Amino acid sequence: MVTDTVSPSLPSSPIPCPDDVRAAADRLAGLAHRTPVLTSRTFDERTGARLFFKAETFQRTGAFKFRGAANAIARLTEAQRRRGVVAFSSGNHAQAIALAAKLAEVPAVIVMPADAPAIKRAATEGYGAEIVSYDRYTEDRQAIGNRLADERGLTLIPPFNHPDVIAGQGTAALELLEETGPLDLLLAPLGGGGLLGGTALAAALLSPGCTVIGVEPEAGNDGQQSLAAGRIVTIPVPQTLADGAQTTALGDLTFAILRELVSQIVTATDAQLLRVMRALAERMKLVVEPTGCLAAAAALEGIVDVRGKRVGVILSGGNVDVSLYGRL
Ligand SMILES: *Cc1c(COP(=O)(O)O)cnc(C)c1O
Repeated sequence: MVTDTVSPSLPSSPIPCPDDVRAAADRLAGLAHRTPVLTSRTFDERTGARLFFKAETFQRTGAFKFRGAANAIARLTEAQRRRGVVAFSSGNHAQAIALAAKLAEVPAVIVMPADAPAIKRAATEGYGAEIVSYDRYTEDRQAIGNRLADERGLTLIPPFNHPDVIAGQGTAALELLEETGPLDLLLAPLGGGGLLGGTALAAALLSPGCTVIGVEPEAGNDGQQSLAAGRIVTIPVPQTLADGAQTTALGDLTFAILRELVSQIVTATDAQLLRVMRALAERMKLVVEPTGCLAAAAALEGIVDVRGKRVGVILSGGNVDVSLYGRL
């Protein structure tokens, strides 16, 4: 699915369009939280911009991923619902699928490494999902997910390269723009590109003149490299605190959208993410996980010129182990 050889002219599924984000928002009404849009005088003064923070830290399961998961599950056929869904992830996508499936009364299987943090495992089990463990050093989770899908007739819901997942993720920016009106600039974190792709589609719908910029960890800038090269570039698993953006390649759908609608991709270092994580806690009393700080870092660390602009910033999630958070 995610390789250098996928031709952009032969996408794995239809590329979602801006109206799909609107349809996703209708589907998610009453299911996903409409998260708050927060502002800070201190940060506005520091940057000379007007910043609007979309706090997906307050989304169900603690991250925007619930939006894409719930939208994808809402789109299943009756037969698919009865058989169930499968996802492979140890992070926010797993919890999002587990909760969205439970709410829709759809069976869910989550493929997780045997050494996944106990609290993540417990949270996923708490939502009623079945967990299938694998050894991350000797086994391939994608192969296991595909085998389960085949054997049990489960529908595999990938974390980003899926039209309904991308459209669902776009509803965060849709809500933001509904509240703020047109913006000059929208900043979103970039891992596999579901969030950034959906954000760009939402901007095309509600703020067509808006510049959309993605922010990646410096150690894992495959998205930046891919836009520069005009093809999907694959990198080794990046070493970064931003564990939600430790992806090795964009998907063919997300790449196609980013190439069309995203102006630029910039990067933030782990040191910048830590400073911003601290600043968001001190000034806005917000617990934001390192990955969730990527977009804010672009504005607050001067990575992108925001002076004089109205800027949307997606704070994508707040799931960080509390003792780790304290140490960081
Ligand atoms: C998954 C995730 C991202 C990256 O989203 P993609 O759709 O993979 O680009 C960013 N922030 C958080 C908190 C995440 O969980």
